[in-house]
Amino acid sequence: MRFKRIATNNDERGSVHAPSPGVHAGRGDPRRHDPPDMNVRARGVFRATCVALCAISALVNAPFASAQLEVRKADLILINGRIWTGAAHPDEPEPTALAVIGDSIVEIGSDMDIRQRQGADTLVLDANGRRVIPGITDSHTHLISGGFQLVRLNLRDVHGRDEFLKAVGDSTKNKKKGEWLLGGRWSVESWKNPEAPRATWIDPVTGETPVFLSRMDGHEALVNSAALKLAGIDKSGPPDPAGGEIERDPSTHEPTGILKESAMDLVHNKIPEPSTKERSEALVRAMRYANSLGITSIHDMSQLADLEVFKKADAAGTLTLRITSYLSADDWSKHIGEVAKTHLGMDSKLLYLAGLKGFMDGSLGSRTAYMFEPFADAAPNSPYPRGQLTPFAASADSFQRQVIDADAKGLQLAVHAIGDQANHLLLDAYEAATKKNETKNPRHRVEHAQHLAVDDIPRFAKLGVVASMQPYHKADDGRYAEKALGSDRLKGSYAFRQLVDAGALVIFGSDWPVVTLNPFEGMDSAVNAKTLANEVWLPSHSLKTVEALRAYTVLPPRAIHREATLGILEVPKFADFVILKDDPLTISPDRLAKVRVAQTVIGGKVVFTAPE
Ligand SMILES: [Zn+2]
Repeated sequence: MRFKRIATNNDERGSVHAPSPGVHAGRGDPRRHDPPDMNVRARGVFRATCVALCAISALVNAPFASAQLEVRKADLILINGRIWTGAAHPDEPEPTALAVIGDSIVEIGSDMDIRQRQGADTLVLDANGRRVIPGITDSHTHLISGGFQLVRLNLRDVHGRDEFLKAVGDSTKNKKKGEWLLGGRWSVESWKNPEAPRATWIDPVTGETPVFLSRMDGHEALVNSAALKLAGIDKSGPPDPAGGEIERDPSTHEPTGILKESAMDLVHNKIPEPSTKERSEALVRAMRYANSLGITSIHDMSQLADLEVFKKADAAGTLTLRITSYLSADDWSKHIGEVAKTHLGMDSKLLYLAGLKGFMDGSLGSRTAYMFEPFADAAPNSPYPRGQLTPFAASADSFQRQVIDADAKGLQLAVHAIGDQANHLLLDAYEAATKKNETKNPRHRVEHAQHLAVDDIPRFAKLGVVASMQPYHKADDGRYAEKALGSDRLKGSYAFRQLVDAGALVIFGSDWPVVTLNPFEGMDSAVNAKTLANEVWLPSHSLKTVEALRAYTVLPPRAIHREATLGILEVPKFADFVILKDDPLTISPDRLAKVRVAQTVIGGKVVFTAPE
């Protein structure tokens, strides 16, 4: 049996020698080039040999051997589970138990073996025969804004104008004078009669309360007349800012209340900044919610103000998520030097600043994604029929220079690209930078990678660029993407299957609070190809359940160069794992979205237990 208890280094030393994830191997470090699960077979042979030698030594020198086999008691053991370790070539039979000392796994195997680790002070988690998986990573979040959204007006599930107005009116009632009504997440595409909302709709129910309600994707917002007035926007001006649009009535030139992309800032800048205390409370809400969904790690696209909140929580020992952060900035040149030198003080086991986040373009829903060809449904007089590049990407010279400089300093880059031309230009920039700097394996990321030119699909693997994708966007956008793009241009849209088959590292996340944080709803979209209108769409782009599960568990750590300490459940990695009430690997795929979490453990600490 493969799961004979094995003395690990930890046992031999009689002390835990936990991995040091705070210390990051440099890019040139060869360890980074070997996916750890490539070596599972080799380790199996090593283990078998070790077991055999121990057995011989036991015969030859019994007292010595018993000292060798004396195992250190665990702080926590998990028993009676069905452990999917996430390894590409899983051990047989499936392990049922694991032991944790400190924050790391010291042994994994059968209940009988692991029970020997049970001491008086050991916490025993009985999985009751349930499925256990590695901790889930959400590879693209806006955590603190998600924490705010949890307590703000959410119009996501509103399906028509009357419902919309009632929800907005009800939320305005308890506002104090001058207090803003915030939130949004509306999407008229899901309405029975899709019609673009207008300031004039909501003015009667909101009055003097200024309103800023972002569209579901955050790339446009509806504001009311009180908010327009505060921002000084009327029919005489101001002109559209670079990379944005103040939507106006073509005949009267009055602003409609819809602001796209950078034009949102004109109003957003008038909203009072939340205090540090409010941000900290939002973080706590967001972490609790994430833990309840089995999430143990996130890759966060963070605002500068978020970082202070993360650091405070880390210093206070209250983080219940591993946070790898990419600092969102319009002008990278201000940050490159400092981030490279100090990671802005974020380099602990739970908190790490990996690099910078930027934006190439907008979104499909707002028709601001930057495409090679005009949108199929572009209005005849639309000023931006192919969408828009952001100011960050619009000047090719400054964009390329920023990517080259950041790459040269060893930063990891995560750039939002939705439209096919935006993706193409970003791949070009990564290619140019890594060639010029002779960078080895930087694992730069394309966030979203939603609509790709077919010829660009193989470039991800070739250039070692990570495709950081959000499968639930496919379910969401699938309701109108064909209308926006035409049916001929979908071969490279949400191309999970094609990217995986071409050898790309594809990792999954949510983009919360843009869409649901629930990873099982994301898995459902990746596997079942259903849109939110319950139609099957682009099924040939789907992954198998096990592939989707890997994109949420064992693959994201590779994208952040942490595969030595996170991902596959094995010795001596961090003990981040989830006990599930339903087994995604054996249930019918159409039930994936309903998988529930029983317990979430991070670094050997239970951070969530579901009520039975
Ligand atoms: Zn995002």
